[in-house]
Amino acid sequence: MNIKKLVRPELIAMKSYTPIEPVEILVQQVEGKLIKLDGNENPYGCSPKVSQAVADYPYYHIYPDPEQRKLREALQEYTGVDRQHIVCGSGSDELIDLVSRLFLEPGDRIITCSPTFGMYPFSAEVCGGRVIEVPRKDEDFALDIAGVKRALDKRTKVIFIASPNNPTGNIIEEQELMELVDTGRVVVIDEAYFEFSGVTMAGLVAAYRNLIVLRTFSKWAGLAGFRIGYGIFPVEIADYLMKIKQPYNVNAAAQVAVLASLSDLDYLHGNVNKIITERERLFGKLGVIASGAKQSHWLKPYPSRANFILCSLCCDSEPTPSEQSPAKEIWRQLQQRGIFIRYFDTPRLKDCLRISVGRPEDTDALVEALKEMC
Ligand SMILES: *Cc1c(COP(=O)(O)O)cnc(C)c1O
Repeated sequence: MNIKKLVRPELIAMKSYTPIEPVEILVQQVEGKLIKLDGNENPYGCSPKVSQAVADYPYYHIYPDPEQRKLREALQEYTGVDRQHIVCGSGSDELIDLVSRLFLEPGDRIITCSPTFGMYPFSAEVCGGRVIEVPRKDEDFALDIAGVKRALDKRTKVIFIASPNNPTGNIIEEQELMELVDTGRVVVIDEAYFEFSGVTMAGLVAAYRNLIVLRTFSKWAGLAGFRIGYGIFPVEIADYLMKIKQPYNVNAAAQVAVLASLSDLDYLHGNVNKIITERERLFGKLGVIASGAKQSHWLKPYPSRANFILCSLCCDSEPTPSEQSPAKEIWRQLQQRGIFIRYFDTPRLKDCLRISVGRPEDTDALVEALKEMC
């Protein structure tokens, strides 16, 4: 029996997603302290109320509510959007998957604006969809809205935009969004970093039939390990998603964790503010390494509205083709010192590094190390 003959051929051809290493593995690679700035995770963890509530919850032996009633009610209050627009998922990753499964037949297309989050192509391809990449503009990673419109064809169903974008940190303007909504395709605005930017399109969802906003508790609320996200959808789309999702897609512990988080907003917003302050301090420090441009390498940080900063590495001389990319070399050397940041092996990002914002002491250790290298 040849299993490969039975597997869908497009899945055999498909490229795998490259995830980051889990913390248990990283700890083994490091002698001293581990500084983890590669996953845009919250360095302050979750609310202490979460640990308490999860420990106290008495009903883990009972299936969770498939209608997500308590969650949607709490999220109605948090977002100001009526609960019938809200659907929760096992991470916003699951909602990206569900949206793809709702709209894509094999051969249908999505548009992404690269460089961007890797789960959009991943989920589309699992559905047999095709991905059309419309590159962002060279200088500042601004969206190329005219380019998106030119790329549309009859089989284009969904346009995915992250705002703030991962890894570039910039946001979509309302004017740009309106042009996309006018194309009549489903437009997904992924606001995974909304709490760090303060800018949202959620208030527009109710006015259109094709606009979706996705959010998550992974980054701002420190719940990445629980896997819990939500989306704000036109009611018609929300109803279809409730129909096709697995009934118990959000586990009981995640539901308890969200309710506890939403009851401790002052604490969580305090941490968000610390991270925003630290983002600006890190940006300034990276800029100083940048202006110390007497050396052969220096960093150019891009302004960010999220909890990470993308930098490109500038060099006086072109590396010879046999040489490793200098960005990758810095990434590797930082790793030897226990500092983990993100390097992307794609042509557009090969000279770039993405640094998640950590605590002040993490910034200091990183900047010291970078000064020695650049
Ligand atoms: C981290 C991230 C997500 C994933 O969120 P989960 O809720 O953890 O699945 C979604 N979109 C973007 C742009 C992200 O960076």
